[in-house]
Amino acid sequence: MSKQKPSKHFETRAVRTQTASDLHREHSAPIFMTSSFTFESAEHARATFADEVEGNIYSRFSNPNSNELIEKLCLLEDAEDGLGTASGMAAMYSSMAGLLEHGDHVLASRSLFGSTHQVLTQIFPKWGISHSYADIDKPEQWESLIRPETKIIFVETPSNPGLDLIDLEWLGQLAREKELILIVDNCFATPYLQQPLSYGAHIVCHSTTKFIDGQGRTVGGAIVGDADLIGKIRFFCRHTGPSMSPFNAWILSKSLETLAVRMDRHCDNALQIAKHFEGHDQIEKVRYPFLPSHPQYQLARKQMRHGGGLLTMEVKGGLERGRKFLDSLKTLSLTANLGDTRTIATHSASTTHSKLTAEEQLAVGITPGLVRISVGLEHPDDIIQDIENALKLTKNALTLTK
Ligand SMILES: *Cc1c(COP(=O)(O)O)cnc(C)c1O
Repeated sequence: MSKQKPSKHFETRAVRTQTASDLHREHSAPIFMTSSFTFESAEHARATFADEVEGNIYSRFSNPNSNELIEKLCLLEDAEDGLGTASGMAAMYSSMAGLLEHGDHVLASRSLFGSTHQVLTQIFPKWGISHSYADIDKPEQWESLIRPETKIIFVETPSNPGLDLIDLEWLGQLAREKELILIVDNCFATPYLQQPLSYGAHIVCHSTTKFIDGQGRTVGGAIVGDADLIGKIRFFCRHTGPSMSPFNAWILSKSLETLAVRMDRHCDNALQIAKHFEGHDQIEKVRYPFLPSHPQYQLARKQMRHGGGLLTMEVKGGLERGRKFLDSLKTLSLTANLGDTRTIATHSASTTHSKLTAEEQLAVGITPGLVRISVGLEHPDDIIQDIENALKLTKNALTLTK
């Protein structure tokens, strides 16, 4: 690993944490596509298995590429330890399953990524693990929902797709007072925009599929945080096997090197687009954490470096207009992903959050006309132009059918 003490600057840490071998004097880390590693002797094998010496054994447990990725991510999140996982959901699930026991209770924010909601409501109950939901923007609800058997608080901030925030400093304090483990899904913000561990979170989870990859190529996840908790989660993952492939780890480690410059551009573009469409006569509402009209604008300024790459807009005319609008976009992609170089539009109610009932959708701010936009790295004028054009085309369509 790098010879120098890590810089205090995010950008330098991201590019200067590298695995380099003396063998070929390569400047960039190679890919270690090997399922296992050899031992010098029977004694070395015994000592490695007994954790008396460091070393890779088998790529389900660890691999130089995932080690490098995680060393870098730990530096960026200011975490003691961590591990890579096969997907973001493997990270969300394992971070909780590795720490929970039968009878435990999880207190979570109501607005959660769709599959995390399924884990809490459909999968954990099979093992006697219950949960309660609190509204992310109503801090007064949280304390009263804590029970004697509560072990974990799990939150996503900003939330998907509502873009609501929770005050991490306040929540970190609550977790400390009540001796609970605070886990934050930091997927939307990335460590460049927000560092939950510095506010008292114990574990940070990522879907690296999103902004960390940033180019829509891999599915992956990561868990970083306090060493003793990561030790328990590592035991769970080592024996259940949701490991990250060396190839994906290599891609993601390269991606982290450009995270800061990419996020700056995603955020600048998103703010420009949000400002352009706020108050537009065909748009009901625009939501973006760094727009002063966002109800938690002050909090966003306090705990985030910038507003992130996502915004939502509610197209006038509800569900039907919303869908016609999506079909009229020419540049923007229609996919369920986010955090790509290419701008993506998603109709949350009929796709990512379609498993929620209509009431559950409304409770987390998903109205029928809500379109989530993951702003990419195209020139913002082209994105604005495409949205303007789709609004114009569907406005005409609506008046013609009347
Ligand atoms: C995508 C996503 C996940 C799940 O990650 P996968 O890599 O798709 O498994 C979890 N949380 C959030 C906020 C996400 O956006």
